[in-house]
Amino acid sequence: MNILLVEDNEDHVRLIKRMLAEGLGGACDLKCESRLSGGLQCLAAGGIDVVLLDLTLPDAGGVDTFVKTHQHAPAIPIVVLSANDDEAIAINAVQQGAQDYLIKGRIDSHLLVRALRYAIERKRLEQRLLFLANHDNLTNLPNRLLMADRLHQALSRAPWRKRTLAVLLLDLDHFKRINDTLGHTVGDHLLQAVAKRLGECLRDGDTVARLGGDEFAILLLDMASAQDVPVVVQKILEAFGKPFVVKEQEIFVTTSIGVSLYPNDGKDTETLLKHADIAMYRAKELGRNNYQLFSPEINVMALERLALETDLRRALERNELSLHYQPRVDLATRRINGMEALLRWHHPTRGAIPPGTFIPIAEQTGLILPIGQWVLRAACAQNKAWQEAGLPQIRVSVNVSTRQFHQQRLAQLVADALNQARLEPRFLELELTESLMEEAEETIKTLRVLKFMGIELSIDDFGTGYSSLSYLKRFPVDRLKIDQSFMRDLTTDRDNVAIVTAVIALARTMNLTVLAEGVETDEQMELLRGLRCDEGQGYLFCRPLPPDEAARALSRGSL
Ligand code: C2E
Ligand code: MG
Ligand code: MG
Repeated sequence: MNILLVEDNEDHVRLIKRMLAEGLGGACDLKCESRLSGGLQCLAAGGIDVVLLDLTLPDAGGVDTFVKTHQHAPAIPIVVLSANDDEAIAINAVQQGAQDYLIKGRIDSHLLVRALRYAIERKRLEQRLLFLANHDNLTNLPNRLLMADRLHQALSRAPWRKRTLAVLLLDLDHFKRINDTLGHTVGDHLLQAVAKRLGECLRDGDTVARLGGDEFAILLLDMASAQDVPVVVQKILEAFGKPFVVKEQEIFVTTSIGVSLYPNDGKDTETLLKHADIAMYRAKELGRNNYQLFSPEINVMALERLALETDLRRALERNELSLHYQPRVDLATRRINGMEALLRWHHPTRGAIPPGTFIPIAEQTGLILPIGQWVLRAACAQNKAWQEAGLPQIRVSVNVSTRQFHQQRLAQLVADALNQARLEPRFLELELTESLMEEAEETIKTLRVLKFMGIELSIDDFGTGYSSLSYLKRFPVDRLKIDQSFMRDLTTDRDNVAIVTAVIALARTMNLTVLAEGVETDEQMELLRGLRCDEGQGYLFCRPLPPDEAARALSRGSL
């Protein structure tokens, strides 16, 4: 045990030396200082396990003696020594963080050694608790609390240091998917591996913290100029280029990073974090695996989005949503054999908001659940109304987002919509996204139930996601809808022709029908016919129409 004794009374020093020799024998190394200044120097040199501190010294007195020592070496346990009539001061020192106190003249060797040992143990426990309170126990990185504290301290020094300071918030892309498919244990190991790799990208003095889930923060506290920040951020993005090896499997994961800079983007902890968060959100919107610097424009976009979100919450009850219908035709005859229901939002002040703008918001906020349910009901009711009006019987297709699949009751909700409208299931089709195919068994079960009910299923925007063919085989779908992006320059772009040809061949062998989306020209249609594509949909035939116009198109029968 390495003990530092700070005591000016030589009699006491001698006495304590004797007691320590008696209680600890050779198992103790004692350094003695008679002044606080000497004691602090000795602590600075390191190697001390515990301090025995007299509170009344030539260069310091009272509880102040303790406070100074503690500030100097906050991690070292201190036992204070007080005179008989100073016990109150000693107790005060304990309240301020001393591990114990001893009263001179009432000590024996046993009591002394025990106090020292307990002090060391108590301090160790205290340090451990402090660590736990400030760190994330999965990765051992600082947590949000410690990160905010460090940022706060750095900000208080920043104005006179003339250095740039950057806050990076980063979030793993599609981490939930990894957790869901590979399990939480693998997810946890991945987070640990990410934590380690982030640490390797940074210099001493920078902080990496885990804020929770798959969200990390990085503080670059000492940058010479703002121009250095993108270099570091780029390095981090590149570090994700190599796979992470978890339990002998390689996992590729990317990250989206938002950056805010002091002082331009904020002068306090809260603002800098909020703005980095807004920038990160933007990076996600822009397709992930990239970084964005905060800017006033991004801020405006975030505010607008928030306003839109608030309005979207009320859109349903205020009847601002409606459905348009776009005919689908048989390419050989141009007869209408179906309609796709497409959601429209007429905002009271902004007018028509495109689905590409509000559907992602609905998905992120969960509003897609009530809205999706409304679409199902409205589409079924409309189809029934057309049938009752004596129009040709067709199938109406409804887009279903992945999020709707995650609610377990989807099959039940579909059944309810059909019942309510008294529509036969064969007149309803659900359009699923390719991303659904990455999901596991539960999805297939739900699809089987829907199929069993007699509902048609198609995969929308086929070719834009990455479907595994083996999955496709297990998915009980009836139809592939080739994404409209492949129609672009179809008559000249050989890659697109090759893809469309391959998808049609694939559908043939799997006994699926194929529909080409976004057909805009006669040339495209002729080419698709030549490739024996079954169905088409697009501006060439008809734009999405409000219900009354759609009914008129339907009564004409072909386009
Ligand atoms: P989608 O399901 O692929 O729908 C086809 C989109 O292509 C529609 O855009 C349609 O207006 C457009 N389109 C049709 N023919 C042509 C053409 O010849 N050329 C071009 N350039 N575009 C064409 P819209 O109505 O803006 O819908 C966009 C997306 O919003 C839809 O893509 C669908 O993913 C989503 N969406 C629409 N309604 C709903 C809904 O009720 N629920 C869900 N979850 N998503 C919906
Ligand atoms: Mg669709
Ligand atoms: Mg589509």
